[in-house]
Amino acid sequence: MRNTSGFHKIAARVAAVVGAVAMMAVTVGCGTSSARSAADGTVNVVVSINQWKSVASDIGGSKATVTSILANQNVEAHDFEPQPSDIVKISKAQIVLVNGAGYDSWATKATQNAPDAVVVNAATTAGIASGANPHVWFSAAARKAAAKAYLTQLQKAAPDDSSYFAGRYEAWLKKENALEKTIAEAKSKTQGISYAATESVAHYLAEDLGLKDATPSGYVQATENDSEPAPGDIRTFQKKLESGSIKMLIVNDQEMNSTSSLIVSTAKKSKVPIVHLTESMPSKEKDLTTWVTSLVKSVDAAVK
Ligand SMILES: [Zn+2]
Repeated sequence: MRNTSGFHKIAARVAAVVGAVAMMAVTVGCGTSSARSAADGTVNVVVSINQWKSVASDIGGSKATVTSILANQNVEAHDFEPQPSDIVKISKAQIVLVNGAGYDSWATKATQNAPDAVVVNAATTAGIASGANPHVWFSAAARKAAAKAYLTQLQKAAPDDSSYFAGRYEAWLKKENALEKTIAEAKSKTQGISYAATESVAHYLAEDLGLKDATPSGYVQATENDSEPAPGDIRTFQKKLESGSIKMLIVNDQEMNSTSSLIVSTAKKSKVPIVHLTESMPSKEKDLTTWVTSLVKSVDAAVK
């Protein structure tokens, strides 16, 4: 779903779980919820969603133990409900890397029981507020800002390994810069091209590529409010595809329903190129950089 409102309903339910775990911690003793390094002496890092896991592992290397709460790509992050065991993992971490922007509020909430755990909020590091489009791992600026902030916290958590982490970060930055070069090259073709999306997951990637969002506003508003678009809005969308004013359709395969399926079939009939992507990182992808690079190439290939 493109909105955060649907997700907020879940956040309320999660609050109850967090409360229950907090009580558990009180019962068994105060020490259980404080941050501590992993058993092997590495920095204990927890990431909320799998989109950020490779960044955390790349920079942490062998001196950080990185656990992702949402490891399974078949789970839709907006609808995720953490188990009490997930909350415990978060509360024991030294560094918690969250996506932010309302996407994974449950993770930030869980750190309230762990005053020693440091939170790196990817959206906040890039100045993206709650309520903005939450799919921030697709933003080059957010990736860079989050990685830098995460490096700083690793170095604070393990000062003796400061230069090790700096070296790992430099290697990561080299990959990210290569990706941004690929984006810049694609942009010579994609700049100003009108696209529409069944769901706003690729918002930041489209922005980085200079694409123009031509998704009809009625459709956007309906999906943002977690409601079914009116027949008139769907018809407007179809007409724009049929007339050729939309040059590309971006489809989130992880969030399909009867309306988006109808839009996809209209695009196919009208020979509008379709770019497929998912919300979570596909397991076949090595890391966030290779994933985003392959998406950039798909978008580039879709522009005639
Ligand atoms: Zn989403």
